[in-house]
Amino acid sequence: MSGPGTSSKTADDKVSILIVDDRPDKLLTYEVMLGGLNQNLVRATSGKEALRCLLRQDFAVILLDVNMPGMDGFETAAMIRQRARSEATPIIFISAVNDTLNHVARGYSLGAVDYILTPVVPEILRAKIGVFVELFKKTEQVKRQGEERAQLIREQAARAEAETQQARLGLLADASHALAASLDYEQTFQALARIIVPRLGDFCILDVADDDGSMRRVAVAHKDSQREPHLADGGECNGSELSVSHAPMKILRAGKPELRWEVDENVLRDLFDQEKDRACIRSLLPVAFIVVPLVAHERVLGAITIVNTSRKRAFGPRELSLAEELAQRAAIALDNAALYKAAQQARTEAERASLAKDRFLAMLSHELRTPLTPVLASVCAMEYEDDVPASMRESLQVIRRNVELEARLIDDLLDLTRISKEKVQLSVERVDAHMLLRNALDICRSEINGKQLRESVELTAANALIDADPARLQQIFWNLIKNAVKFTPPGGMLAVRSSNERDGNLRVEVEDSGAGIDSELLPKIFNAFEQGERPQFGGLGLGLAISKALVELQHGRIFAESDGQGKGAKFTTIFPTSTQSQAAPALRAPISSPQRRSMRILLVEDHDDTNRSLTRLLQRRGYEVQSASTIGSALNIADGEDFDVLISDLGLPDGSGTDLMAKLQAHRPIFGIALTGFGMEDDLRRSREVGFNHHLVKPVDLNKLDSILQAAPTFPNGRSG
Ligand code: ADP
Repeated sequence: MSGPGTSSKTADDKVSILIVDDRPDKLLTYEVMLGGLNQNLVRATSGKEALRCLLRQDFAVILLDVNMPGMDGFETAAMIRQRARSEATPIIFISAVNDTLNHVARGYSLGAVDYILTPVVPEILRAKIGVFVELFKKTEQVKRQGEERAQLIREQAARAEAETQQARLGLLADASHALAASLDYEQTFQALARIIVPRLGDFCILDVADDDGSMRRVAVAHKDSQREPHLADGGECNGSELSVSHAPMKILRAGKPELRWEVDENVLRDLFDQEKDRACIRSLLPVAFIVVPLVAHERVLGAITIVNTSRKRAFGPRELSLAEELAQRAAIALDNAALYKAAQQARTEAERASLAKDRFLAMLSHELRTPLTPVLASVCAMEYEDDVPASMRESLQVIRRNVELEARLIDDLLDLTRISKEKVQLSVERVDAHMLLRNALDICRSEINGKQLRESVELTAANALIDADPARLQQIFWNLIKNAVKFTPPGGMLAVRSSNERDGNLRVEVEDSGAGIDSELLPKIFNAFEQGERPQFGGLGLGLAISKALVELQHGRIFAESDGQGKGAKFTTIFPTSTQSQAAPALRAPISSPQRRSMRILLVEDHDDTNRSLTRLLQRRGYEVQSASTIGSALNIADGEDFDVLISDLGLPDGSGTDLMAKLQAHRPIFGIALTGFGMEDDLRRSREVGFNHHLVKPVDLNKLDSILQAAPTFPNGRSG
């Protein structure tokens, strides 16, 4: 007998049979009779016990005695039938012959399948039970097979789903990879089209919206590559030009993705107004299509159209959502490309503007400098006159220094451009920093006196010689002193100190008791155009930025200290000192030196005052000067005479001084000095290329010009004095 279980079957493939009879001897008899069937026999001695057995397991068949005390066979059968699980379990009643008629009718009404009369004939009992055992086994088998098939189908579906999912992820990964490969979206879109076909559709078209809202075809792919030209923009189809781009246009106006399972005449008519377009599309054999918009920032940037030409694969929500995801990624790529292009454009624009600004600054400085040249030249000349009284000589120095400074200021604007482009040119020589500090103080003298500042000058450095550009160094010192004076109220203190650091470096401090610098501004003080809250003091906020760049170019350091508003400020610069304690000799040749050379100079300058004063001053120094104001007149003069030197302005009314130089050089070598107010690098390079040996920026320092002339080499036909 088997124990409790849920199925009528046991592990050894036997089925269970329930035998119900109140008499144990009968139960034993049935067991013996059915033993040969070799199944599990479960016995119950009452209707109640039978029901309990049924709660625990299913049976292939129930053998049920009709006559039992308490709940008889019929009542038990009725209860069995009430339970869903056993409502169809076959019941065979065992009944005495005398009750037959009565019992049979009732038994069948309760769902009995058969009757066995007592005394039971073993063969009949075995045969009848055997039938139900077989039937049960068959039913179980069918059920099992059904379950197995269902399981198989479920597994296949899961596998297919996993494969689809994998293909989908693979496609998206490939698409992302292609889209990230470059910022040239036309190229990446073509790669994307090749990924979509044939994996998602038989052909596909990528359109991009132009600024005017019209669609432009940027990529196509067809599984039959020979058909691709038909799809491309301006492609021919059935002899007429294709205008299928209108299709996505129509759909995109709605701004939503669209899936058409079936492309029939109605759909074609819906999408294309013209028969020639419909004919064209027909020839491409579309069966189904998906159109998805490329949307970024709520703007339709383009569309992807994917078309199937065979019914072998179908488009459904899955394909639509995949296409939408592709479109999303493509839209981001397109948007990025547009942003990049805009940034590029902005950069080019900014570069163009910056170049225009450079040109403007160069022009401006030229215009502002030109009038200074004759002033400076004249003052220089007067300084050299022997009969100038000492008091006047001092004034002349003040005039010269200030004109030079004026020219420097004009240069500041140009400097900033050069510094930002790392194109500053320094003429480094050994200089006495103390002398330049005193010069700088002298330039500010009238303001210092005007404000009655208490001035303390302690230039105690034993070695103040440094290798630097004197003009630039003075510019730095002057800027620091000028600021100290500017930001200190009348009666305040100004201190200028120098010392040598332990390592020998020269330390220069400019300290004041004035407005001081806010701790927030302090770290930004050397930035260009940074003025804190003080634009009312005038200036451009360029001085310190230029100074810092110049200090660093000359291998020095500069820093500012201040305890805050109203607490004064201290600016310190530190420069490496020269190892040789001897200052380099000044680059000046005495006017009356017996070794001075006379030369024939052709001076070309269109600014009348400059031309006149330079001519006069050069003549005074013993040169033979012919002057001209245009290239034409210069060439005329040069036709009849030889010259040793050409001194020429670069910007002349009828061309550039470089053209003139090129023409003269073609004739015979000539020493050339270019004059220009333009400090542009291009001018310098160009003038060097055509053979100018020197390049002087206006206003011209006559002494420098004289030194250059005296040091010039002698050419074969040249003369020396
Ligand atoms: P500018 O003087 O033309 O404005 P600078 O670059 O020389 O340009 O100086 C920048 C700013 O630094 C000034 O506007 C001022 O706010 C501050 N500054 C410079 N020197 C001093 C100083 N000695 N005391 C107080 N503030 C100063």
